[in-house]
Amino acid sequence: MYDPKSLKAEEFISHEEILDTLEYAEQNKENRALIDSILDKARLRKGLTHREASILLACEMPDKIQELYDLAEQIKKDFYGNRIVMFAPLYLSNYCVNGCVYCPYHLKNKHIARKKLTQEEVVREVTALQDMGHKRLAIEAGEDPVNNPLDYILECINTIYSIKHKNGAIRRVNVNIAATTVENYRKLKEAGIGTYILFQETYHKESYEKLHPTGPKHNYAYHTEAMDRAMDGGIDDVGLGVLFGLELYKYEFAGLLMHAEHLEAVHGVGPHTISVPRVKHADDIDPTAFDNGISDDIFAKICACIRVAVPYTGMIISTRESKAVREKVIRLGVSQISGASRTSVGGYCEPEPEDENSEQFDVSDKRTLDEVVHWLMDLGYIPSFCTACYREGRTGDRFMSLCKSGQIQNCCHPNALMTLKEYLIDYASPETREIGEALIKRELENIPKEKVKQIAADNLEKIEAGIRD
Ligand code: SAM
Repeated sequence: MYDPKSLKAEEFISHEEILDTLEYAEQNKENRALIDSILDKARLRKGLTHREASILLACEMPDKIQELYDLAEQIKKDFYGNRIVMFAPLYLSNYCVNGCVYCPYHLKNKHIARKKLTQEEVVREVTALQDMGHKRLAIEAGEDPVNNPLDYILECINTIYSIKHKNGAIRRVNVNIAATTVENYRKLKEAGIGTYILFQETYHKESYEKLHPTGPKHNYAYHTEAMDRAMDGGIDDVGLGVLFGLELYKYEFAGLLMHAEHLEAVHGVGPHTISVPRVKHADDIDPTAFDNGISDDIFAKICACIRVAVPYTGMIISTRESKAVREKVIRLGVSQISGASRTSVGGYCEPEPEDENSEQFDVSDKRTLDEVVHWLMDLGYIPSFCTACYREGRTGDRFMSLCKSGQIQNCCHPNALMTLKEYLIDYASPETREIGEALIKRELENIPKEKVKQIAADNLEKIEAGIRD
């Protein structure tokens, strides 16, 4: 009926198809036979269509929900093992010409202090992040062609990659900036970015236009087709996301999966990551002003449904979520988390003064990176600072085909152990180091191939002896 290949993203992710999907899901939410067949299909680990996954999301039968959670947990283990990739956001500038009604950077907000990092400040901020142990950053900026044009972003990326830290360089810079042109995406690709991340905010066009009343971001089609332009510009890893709370979650979920289907059909590779932010309080933003806030349980169900529907796509949560929520969704499918984040411009060197409130949103998880790493290991996870795939060209469809065949595990597991070892030696507190060393020892034994185990053990010894790459 809908051909993802011949239609533009905005046409494919149509309001009519989403409404039809929601009606179909509602009609079938107690259809045990159909739900069983969808769960069976999901067990093949080849994903689900937006229609199938929407039925799982609509289903309220406790036993089937439990089956969904068990499957999500198993798929998470199969594709990602017990690794959790760590990253930190870096806010470059809060100058913005848009009028997004949920974001404190909006143009009409006259009482937040506007700030843009100089290159010297970029160096200081990144050094502060490296001093904590971070190797992977996501840079963030408002949209302002005068104050933060693309050349400024490119200069910052260049600065970040050229910083020489005693324990090695930042290895991957992901970029979350406003939708732009193919030419600009090509420049970002040439600058060596990792994933280009852009949240759709909402797939409901009418709401989108109301929530973005002014500025370039008002243009729904331009925003929705950004990932196609990014891929046309040569960026092969793109990250989708919606801001949950703005519109009905079932609507957003169907739209998100249709977007993934569209990318896969047109470009031969689906999204590298999906982010699941929820609207938070921030300066003049009250999240209860949006009627569609979701409970922690629904949030967990969404994460589980994404996990089974697009098993090979990484899932990201930020410090918008509390420790308790993070613990739940990491089990169900989240593969990347931020730690020790500051969401104000310059916040890593100068924490926000009490009387100012220029953070992009309030952070719920305020723990240090050491505390987060310790906590993950207590839960049995391997915090990973690995960026080897990117450095060795395993991106886009190459990464996806390796991931789909389960092969990525053969290199990710030992790589994660090595980067954790670096972290433990270079940054960890004595208590964190102690449990980390024990974890590495145990996990080394879990590497099935003797040859791989030996290589990993040799590399761990080199790291112990002070060798860094
Ligand atoms: N300016 C770029 C754009 O328009 O996409 C980058 C966006 S901003 C730095 C990163 C994301 O923060 C936004 O896409 C939005 O989803 C999220 N955000 C904005 N206000 C928020 C709030 N009050 N609570 C939680 N997340 C918020």
